[in-house]
Amino acid sequence: MHKLDHRKLYRLPWSVTDNVISWLEPTKECNIYCDGCYSANAKGSHKSLAQVRSDLDVFERFRQTDAVSVAGGDPLVHPEIVEVVRMIASRGLKPVVNTNGHGLTPSLLRDMKAAGLAGFTFHVDSLQTRPGWKGATEVELNELRLGYAERVAEVGGLSCAFNSTVYEKTLPEAPEILEWARRHADKVHVVVFIAFRAAVQERFDYFAGEERIEVRGLTYSKAAPQRTDITAQEIVATLRKRFPEFEPSAYLNGTEKPDSFKWLMTLLVGDRERFYGSAGPKFVELSQVWNHLVKGRYLGYVPPAVHASARSMLALAAVDPGMRKVASSWLRAAAANPLRLARPLHLQSVMIIQPVDVLEDGRQSMCDSCPDMTVHDGQLVWSCRLEERLKYGELMRMRPASRKKVEETAP
Ligand code: SF4
Repeated sequence: MHKLDHRKLYRLPWSVTDNVISWLEPTKECNIYCDGCYSANAKGSHKSLAQVRSDLDVFERFRQTDAVSVAGGDPLVHPEIVEVVRMIASRGLKPVVNTNGHGLTPSLLRDMKAAGLAGFTFHVDSLQTRPGWKGATEVELNELRLGYAERVAEVGGLSCAFNSTVYEKTLPEAPEILEWARRHADKVHVVVFIAFRAAVQERFDYFAGEERIEVRGLTYSKAAPQRTDITAQEIVATLRKRFPEFEPSAYLNGTEKPDSFKWLMTLLVGDRERFYGSAGPKFVELSQVWNHLVKGRYLGYVPPAVHASARSMLALAAVDPGMRKVASSWLRAAAANPLRLARPLHLQSVMIIQPVDVLEDGRQSMCDSCPDMTVHDGQLVWSCRLEERLKYGELMRMRPASRKKVEETAP
């Protein structure tokens, strides 16, 4: 396996108080079911606009933020989603709606755009219970993805991202998703792969404070799960078999494992025929630091026009070895077929997320400088573990299960 060395990549400069994103949950209600969801589906759990305003105040009190991911639940089922988007945009933040897409109508799309929407992140994967797509593979779901991307492109000016949970079963299909995204780089700007995680009941004893707890009722607990330890490195290795030019450039480490890759960024440059390579660590460092110098914030989502102007970014080959490789590969290809010079070059971002890792001794390694922090009781908390706070009043701790218990539950 292509082993990545974190010391050779750029450590993204994000922190708890100065980050690219914050994670707003205006509702916990959802209109479909996803196997890997962290959130309990709670019908009618919509926050009022006053509660949303208060959550946004907490973000602004505690941290600089470039974008606000409007998530849930599915935010499109919130009856005042357009007002939520307007409220975020009026604060000078970029509202990005994270949705399964099922509730997206043409009028809602237009209204959210008019209210200041910056983009969408669509969650589409094959372990969702989605009307009309039962049993579809990741490859077949590319047709559904394309439908959403086209609707967003028609409205124009919106960033369009797709995320997909990666399960043991779907890992081999990850390159097909990326290949599809490459072919539609004019409409698809970001692809996110999120490794599946779950709290495994048999392997650990769980505690809230001193008290032993049962985790069966927790949304993300599983009795006999498939693999819950897929790493970002494995996803990279799978993608590189198809795209040897896939070279990650920047990362966030784990809180308990400094050499793990919790958020791993790759910026690919290509046209509708192929990728020419990946931008390197210096490119990411420059874009993050420059944006912070000029705008006081690290850079999150950018408009589609920026993704479509990768040719002008080739000037950064002067400082970034990754871009140098991209430029020379593109020039070689253009020498073989000069028609390539007429085609636009696109920058496509791929983020691989490796959520909580449970170490053998029960420690939980989180994403250091978590971008997806949400609000609970006036404080910033990890959105992937909000359910523990809601159910037990605090985060649970884990200890390896007694040998007896493991033997009892062994098949
Ligand atoms: S710590 Fe949890 S919520 Fe934060 S980025 Fe990682 S997976 Fe997402």
